[in-house]
Amino acid sequence: MDKRAFLEGFFTASTVAFGGLYMLQRMQRPSLLLTTPAATVAAPIAASTPVPPGFQFTAIEIASAKPAQGLPLPAPELSANSDFSVASLSDAEVESYLRKIRNFDAVFASDIYLDARYESTLLQTTQRMSRVEAYMGHGNFNLMSFDEMLSSGRNFLKIGAFTPAELEFLEEIFFANPNRYGFFGKKISPQITAAIPKLDVAKIGDSGHFLLKGESLNLYQQIKRDVGNEIVLTSGVRSIVKQMHLFLGKSIETNGNLSRASRSLAPPGHSYHGVGDFDIGKLGLGARNFTADFSATEGYKKIAGLGYVDIRYPTDNLFGVRFEPWHIKLG
Ligand SMILES: [Zn+2]
Repeated sequence: MDKRAFLEGFFTASTVAFGGLYMLQRMQRPSLLLTTPAATVAAPIAASTPVPPGFQFTAIEIASAKPAQGLPLPAPELSANSDFSVASLSDAEVESYLRKIRNFDAVFASDIYLDARYESTLLQTTQRMSRVEAYMGHGNFNLMSFDEMLSSGRNFLKIGAFTPAELEFLEEIFFANPNRYGFFGKKISPQITAAIPKLDVAKIGDSGHFLLKGESLNLYQQIKRDVGNEIVLTSGVRSIVKQMHLFLGKSIETNGNLSRASRSLAPPGHSYHGVGDFDIGKLGLGARNFTADFSATEGYKKIAGLGYVDIRYPTDNLFGVRFEPWHIKLG
């Protein structure tokens, strides 16, 4: 099947319930692109891409990190513009895109890195946010607003006030256009200071997480009723602060590779966890709940058969994000 037609089809049919046979067949289909001969892949272009004003990203070609045989080859970046459309992409770009999200945790020579000058600020800021989380509590941290985080730093010596350099760094990460490093989801929460009204959320017992009352909570409870108590909430509503901390942590894990980080975690302001999406898992499956393994569980198969549940990031989605069978889409 022509890849462009396939992606365009996906784009228009992205609201199809993932319980449909069509989606299940697609999930099980092997990746043809991974066997694409090297000769059909165009040369990397990232190094020549102009850097937009504001936050400085650097494209680094790492010879030692180039994928070994059998893994993806260096390939061009997607066009970094806000009017992203599949029609504007060349065949090589479409191939590159699919190869990246299907191999989200691989390192690509065209990946975009955080400028090395920000490395120490990244560490320092993330450590301070970790202290906020440890001191103020994991549950509270899920809901914490930016202003609350800043005042916790000022008020508690164990945390310490955020420095001007840390604040500038957090703002630049928040306001930078993530298209630049390969993430194509919408900005869901444009205000860095956006707060989740505490009265609008319900704490979910034994999970340490919260769900927005109404549609989100109702959907979760309906899934539990239909599938059983083996299904648990693994992440609920998340504030900008929570998403920021997760994204910075992921960026440390990837040695500053923002492209690789954003293939498995939406940058702050771009997460649908801020507006009602939530993650579910199987009781006892632990960290494997956040891998494709979850899609092999009986619970997942039951959910897929319910007909009223969608996932936000199906295989080969257009957000620039890996397949996430655990991430339930609201609305
Ligand atoms: Zn999620």
